[in-house]
This record gives sequence, structure tokens and C-alpha cells, in this order.
Amino acid sequence: MMNIFNIFKKKESESSPKENWESLKPILESHRRVAWFPNTLEKASNPTSSKFSGVPAISRDEKWPCCSNCNEPMQLFLQLNSQELPATEKNLFGEGMLQVFYCTNWDKECEVNCEAFFPFSKSTLVRVVDYKSEVIASPDLSPVKDAFPERQIIGWESKEDYPNWEELENLGVTLTDAQSDLLCDMEYPLPKDKLLGWPYWVQGVEYPDCPECGTPMKLIFQIDSEDNLPYMFGDVGCSHITQCESHKDKLAIAWACS
Ligand SMILES: [Zn+2]
Ligand SMILES: [Zn+2]
Repeated sequence: MMNIFNIFKKKESESSPKENWESLKPILESHRRVAWFPNTLEKASNPTSSKFSGVPAISRDEKWPCCSNCNEPMQLFLQLNSQELPATEKNLFGEGMLQVFYCTNWDKECEVNCEAFFPFSKSTLVRVVDYKSEVIASPDLSPVKDAFPERQIIGWESKEDYPNWEELENLGVTLTDAQSDLLCDMEYPLPKDKLLGWPYWVQGVEYPDCPECGTPMKLIFQIDSEDNLPYMFGDVGCSHITQCESHKDKLAIAWACS
């Protein structure tokens, strides 16, 4: 028996032909990148290990980085050891450890007061340190109030990644609505925590400009809401860690939510 709903279905598919991935892929090919997804384990690791939260490498000549607003020790969100990156990405940000600190002090509302969603906020710190092992004097336990459980990064899994329609347009590729919809359905750019790839922008394309040379900074890492960190950026926002290619000491974390 002919079902009336099937007639409607057929009509709909005729009037807006479904885009197919095999025909879209060649159009995107030159903008394909590899994104690396961290494999993690909830465990304490040594101070130079790559990790989310926990205890990072701190030198004997410094104190744990504190927030400029509340003066409390900031959460370690991420530490990446350049020796533990995927083999092809070893020179990504320079030698040593990239560290991301972020104040999660709700009593003082540092995130809001310091507008931590913008790059270079006073309640965040992103830096690369290259300490010799003899100067590392990290505490055994995190001094952060309500420190998140540590997750050690024990490996990486690669996936192909593509930019969103807006970023593609900036690159000179204009997609049809059906092609943009398909890209969205395929979940590109990929969400979740990842190294490199293309940023999953919740709002528009927002690479911070380097304060030294004004050039848009480059994506290093994406930290998504509640993936490896039990933390939500605003309302299911997504954060990006970026670095200037010419000025390696210019690094930032920034995020947006809908
Ligand atoms: Zn603070
Ligand atoms: Zn620069």
C-alpha cells in the first residue's frame, strides 16, 4: 500500500538533493588537516608528563602561577611536553612544556571579572617553559582549591579534519547550503579536545591577533567543555590555545559559547 508520508518524503528529497561526501571531499581536499585526539588515563604522573590538570613542571625559582585577580593558585588545564607529541608534530610550539593555567575561582568570579573568554586575560596564563630536570621542584600535591583530577595523556589518535563553512569562505571556497549542512552532519570541524586540526568555532572565526605583530595566531590545541576536564566554558563553549608563529612567547587561551 502506498503510504502518503513516503510520497512527501520522496518529494522533499527531489527538491533538495542530498549532498554526498564523496563529491564534497575533493573540494575540501587542499584544506584537509590532521587533528590528534589525546588518549588519557585518570592517574597522577610525573611533573614533566603531558596531562590535563594535576601538577605541572614548576622550577625551584618560582611559585605556582597565581591569578592576578584573586591571587590564588590557578588550575592547570593542560601541559604538553614537546617530547611526547606525535612524531610529526614535535616542533609544534618549541622545546619544553606548554602550560595552560586558568583561574576557576567562583567566589571571586575571576572568569567573568577578567573576561577570561578573551585572549590574554589576567586570570589565565599560557606559556612554554623549558626547565632542566635539576631545577624542577614541583609540589607533590596541587595547591589549587578543588583541583580537578589529573588525566595523563598517554598517546594520540589521528583523524582528518576540515574547516567550517565560514573559515572555508575566508579561504576562497564557497559551499552551497547543502554542502555546509553535510559538513555539519559529518561533525567537521571535529569537537572534543584535540591537538591541531581546525578550530570548532561556536561563534565566528576568532583567531586572536599577536600583540607583537598583529598577525592572527595559530591553533595549537582545542579544549572543549567537559571532555577531559570537568569544566564547562560558559554554556557548552569551546576554548582554543593559540600561538604566534613568529613570536613563540605570545600564547593565549580564549573561548566562545552560544
Ligand atoms: Zn582568580
Ligand atoms: Zn607575532
